[in-house]
Amino acid sequence: MGISTEQRVYRNLTPSQLYEHALRRREGVVTSGGPFCAVTSPHTGRSPNDKFLVQEPDSTGQIWWGKVNQPIAPEKFERLKADVEEHLSGQELFVRDVFAGADPAFRLPIRFMTPNAWHALFVYNMFLRPADGELSRFTPGFKVLHAPEFQADPRVHGTKSGTFIIVSFAQRTILIGGTRYAGELKKSIFSVLNYLLPLQGVLSMHCSANVGKRGDCALFFGLSGTGKTTLSADPERRLIGDDEHGWSDAGIFNFEGGCYAKVIRLSREGEPEIFATTEMFGTVLENVDVNPKTGAVDLDSQRITENTRASYPIHYIPNHVPEGMAGHPAHVVFLTCDAFGVMPPIAKLTPEQAMYHFLSGYTAKVAGTERGVTEPKETFSACFGAPFLPLPPSVYAKMLGERIARHDVQCWLVNTGWTGGPYGVGHRMDLKSTRAMIRAALAGQLDTVPTRREPVFGLAVPKQVSGVPDALLDPRATWSDPAGYDAQAKKLTALFRKNFEQFTELVPASVREAGPQT
Ligand code: ATP
Ligand code: MN
Repeated sequence: MGISTEQRVYRNLTPSQLYEHALRRREGVVTSGGPFCAVTSPHTGRSPNDKFLVQEPDSTGQIWWGKVNQPIAPEKFERLKADVEEHLSGQELFVRDVFAGADPAFRLPIRFMTPNAWHALFVYNMFLRPADGELSRFTPGFKVLHAPEFQADPRVHGTKSGTFIIVSFAQRTILIGGTRYAGELKKSIFSVLNYLLPLQGVLSMHCSANVGKRGDCALFFGLSGTGKTTLSADPERRLIGDDEHGWSDAGIFNFEGGCYAKVIRLSREGEPEIFATTEMFGTVLENVDVNPKTGAVDLDSQRITENTRASYPIHYIPNHVPEGMAGHPAHVVFLTCDAFGVMPPIAKLTPEQAMYHFLSGYTAKVAGTERGVTEPKETFSACFGAPFLPLPPSVYAKMLGERIARHDVQCWLVNTGWTGGPYGVGHRMDLKSTRAMIRAALAGQLDTVPTRREPVFGLAVPKQVSGVPDALLDPRATWSDPAGYDAQAKKLTALFRKNFEQFTELVPASVREAGPQT
C-alpha cells in the first residue's frame, strides 16, 4: 500500500489476537462480560463537516457538490496522503482485508490499514469476513489509510480542521484521520458504495432489512436514532442487516457483515437480542462507561457520550440470514422520530406519498442535554441518509420509485417519536406498541382494517391495530390540548414545505401534492 515501515505489520489477525495486541497497546479494556471497550473522545460521533471528495475529471460531473460533498483539490489530497503514509510508516500496523456487499456480483474487496488493533477488530466485526482461501488471493478494490492520531494542517492540506475523511474515486483510496470514532470506517465505505452501485443499476439504501417466515422481506429506512437497528432485530423475523443495503434486479443484499447498535439505556427486556451482544467476547463497545475496579459496564451512563455503541458480527444475532441476501421487499417502512408529536404512529403511504417522504427524510432531534430547553429540532435529510450520498438525491429517489412500482411494494410511515404532546410534555412511543404495529403491517393484517385520513399530511391511518390502544392511533386525541396540537402541526408542515422547495422542479405534481394538506 505504499508504506514502508520499520515496525511490525500484522495481517488479518483473529479477534483474540487483536484483543491481546489492543491490551498490550493499552487501547482500552476488556469488560466483565467479554467485550472490548475503547474510548474515542473527543470525537464520539461522525464529523460531517470534515468530509471531502477529491475533485477528479471522471467523477466530478456526477457528484452532488455542496455541504455534504465538499471538493478538495488533487494536490491537497496528494500532500495529505504522503504525510499520512509517512506518519503510518512509524507505527505498528494492523491490516484487515474484508468485503462489502453480500451479493458476489457486486462485492467490493477493501483493505484497511490502521495503527490500532481495536479498529482492526471493528472492521472485522462490521464487514464481510473472507474465507481463508479468499484471503490468500485477495486483491483490494479500495483501500483505507486510517491515521486516527494524525492531525491535518488546514493551511497545508486544505482541510477545515485536523480531522478529515477524504475519498478519491480515481485512486480508490480513503484517508481518515484526526478522529478515533470507528463509525467513520464504516460510513466512508457506505458513501463509496452509494457512488459505485447506482452506476451499476443497483439502488443503495440507508436502511435495515429482515425477512419473515414466508420469505417476505421488509426494509426500514430512517435517520440515526429512529429505530433501524432496534426494530429489525425481531425474534419472528430473520435479520439481513441493520444499516446499509443494496437493491439489485435480483433482490436485496446487505453491504455489511455486522451491526453497530446504539446501546444507551439498552434494556435486557426490551431489546434482548442486542443486549446479549454486550455480554459477548468479540463485541467492541465504544464510549461505554466501564467501572475500572469491576469491569462492569453501565449502559445507562452518558458520561462519555449519549452515542454509545456496540459493534458485533451479524451472527451474534441468533436469527440472521447468513447469505445476507433476500428477494425483492414486500414492505418498505420509513421510520421517523417525530419529537413534535404530530405524526401518526403508523400510516399507509401511496407511492406518491412514499416519494414525498423519502425525499424529505424527516426526523427530529430532542434538544438534548441543555437544561430548560425543550424545543424539538427538525432534521430533513434526503433519502434518510443525505450525509452519505455522493450523487443527487433525485437519482436514488427515482430508482426507489421504479422499484416500488415494479414490485408492487407497500410503503408505511412509522413514528417512533413522541405522542401525547411534544418532547417535554408527551412521551416517546413505547417500543412494544411500535413493534405490534409493524408486526401487524408486515403480516398483512392492516390491509383490510378501515383507515381514517388524518388531516395534517393526508395519510391513511388504520383505525385499529391488535395489541395497540385505539387512542394511540389518533395523535391529536393523545394531546390534552388539541389546539396546541394544531399549532404544532402548522409549525411542522411549514418546515416540510420550506424544505421541499429544493425538489419542486424535480418531481411530478402528484408527488408535490402528496405533502402536507394544511
Ligand atoms: P443509527 O443510524 O444511528 O444506527 P438507528 O436507526 O439504528 O440509528 P437505533 O439504534 O435503533 O437507531 O436507535 C433507536 C433508539 O430509540 C434505541 O435506543 C431504542 O431503544 C429507542 N426507542 C425508544 N422507543 C422506541 C420506539 N418506539 N421504536 C424504536 N426505538 C425506540
Ligand atoms: Mn443502527
